Amino acid sequence: MHIKLKFLGAARNVTGSRHLVETENIRFLVDCGMHQERQFRDRDWANFPVAPNSIDAVLLTHAHLDHCGFLPKLVREGFSGPIYCTAATAAIAEIILLDSAHIQESDVEFKKQRHQREGRRGPHPYVPLYTTEDANACLPLFSPVSYEEGVQLCPGVVATFHDAGHILGSSMIKVVVEEGGEKRTLLFSGDVGRRNKPILKDPTLFDEADYVLIESTYGNRIHEAQSTISDELAEVINQAAAAGGNIYVPSFALERAQEILYYMSKLLTEQRIPHIMVFVDSPMAISVTEVFRNYPYLFDRETLQLIYEGNSPFDFPALTMTRTVDQSKALNRIKGTAMIIAGSGMCTGGRIKHHLAKNISREDSTVLFVGYQAVGTLGRHIVSGAKEVRILGQQHPVRANVVQINGFSAHADREELFYWLSSLKNPPRGVFVVHGEEEAALHFASFLEGRTGWNISVPEYGDEVVLT
Ligand SMILES: [Zn+2]
Repeated sequence: MHIKLKFLGAARNVTGSRHLVETENIRFLVDCGMHQERQFRDRDWANFPVAPNSIDAVLLTHAHLDHCGFLPKLVREGFSGPIYCTAATAAIAEIILLDSAHIQESDVEFKKQRHQREGRRGPHPYVPLYTTEDANACLPLFSPVSYEEGVQLCPGVVATFHDAGHILGSSMIKVVVEEGGEKRTLLFSGDVGRRNKPILKDPTLFDEADYVLIESTYGNRIHEAQSTISDELAEVINQAAAAGGNIYVPSFALERAQEILYYMSKLLTEQRIPHIMVFVDSPMAISVTEVFRNYPYLFDRETLQLIYEGNSPFDFPALTMTRTVDQSKALNRIKGTAMIIAGSGMCTGGRIKHHLAKNISREDSTVLFVGYQAVGTLGRHIVSGAKEVRILGQQHPVRANVVQINGFSAHADREELFYWLSSLKNPPRGVFVVHGEEEAALHFASFLEGRTGWNISVPEYGDEVVLT
């Protein structure tokens, strides 16, 4: 038995998930993500640590950019094997990758001009990391698999995808390797979702694994309860309706936007809020919502029940999708209260900036944050109480009511991660803590050690281990 595992990203950092597995007969990657932390972007520009054409397959846990965003470059550089993932992941990854390529194409010109103005050269060449053409070229390699059905990668190696409850189509992947009469099971947690989250099923639990790779994004945190989200949202909307202005919700296109729709359709059905209109003003969120409509069999029982009762969260009378720019501009003429969900989630781009420029100085407006706002983003400035903000080149006084609802998260916290791991009946031979900032990963590893006494390690970028 000889299995090699190499950590090529998301090792003591969050993004760029890429785990390389080699056995006697096959070499494959689990995830092929892009790095998003500025200090690690060099890794995406450097030569890939192994020749892409020597990799036989990619197993993709889910469609977030930090898990799939490097695929177009891997394919351009010679990878031509299958990319196994669920059909929903393939559908969402197509939207995400084309958007990513587009952003990189438009960023290049912008960066070049800025650097010229500042009289300096950037660290990377002035070409996109990959183009729309590259993104399109990797789409035919997607090979959809169903949950719970084993896929033989080569004789003796079988991978099975299980629902991770993180975003639509997300998976945990179990790989069984049989060699010379011996068998080893590798379990890749992917991103671990949360129990009792709307729309999605709960993360799958496992009885046994020899080796586990577990994420640790929130390995050092305990989330606020999700149970109060409905009440908090109802209160925000009722207040906004009393003030008479619109509610602007900066939101990520994938999952968070659909969760808001879920809560809104419920509050409207239960008549806990006035009958306001809800607009999804983001072409990407609209496309992702269409994918949700196409995969109802992935929803949890409560969401299916709503659909059977004729109250689909993705298709209700008050809901309007505004795809074109003209439709988006027309939203400024709405009288009374409406909810406008637009990207980007941290107000760093997209249509939300135009809405905020027009409305953040109105006392009757409400800006509702439902996601994490990174340091340095416009969203962070607003949420931390700035009196004035710069939007699209102009200063705007903040007079709108700014509110934040915590409790939304697609990732399990420390206790939830531990709950997931504790379903294993026997101690695994090894647990590798990945996909977390160094501090979170180390904290989680020592927490796990303390609770279980298992063999836990926190690999570094480029580390290689031989699993015996
Ligand atoms: Zn994710």
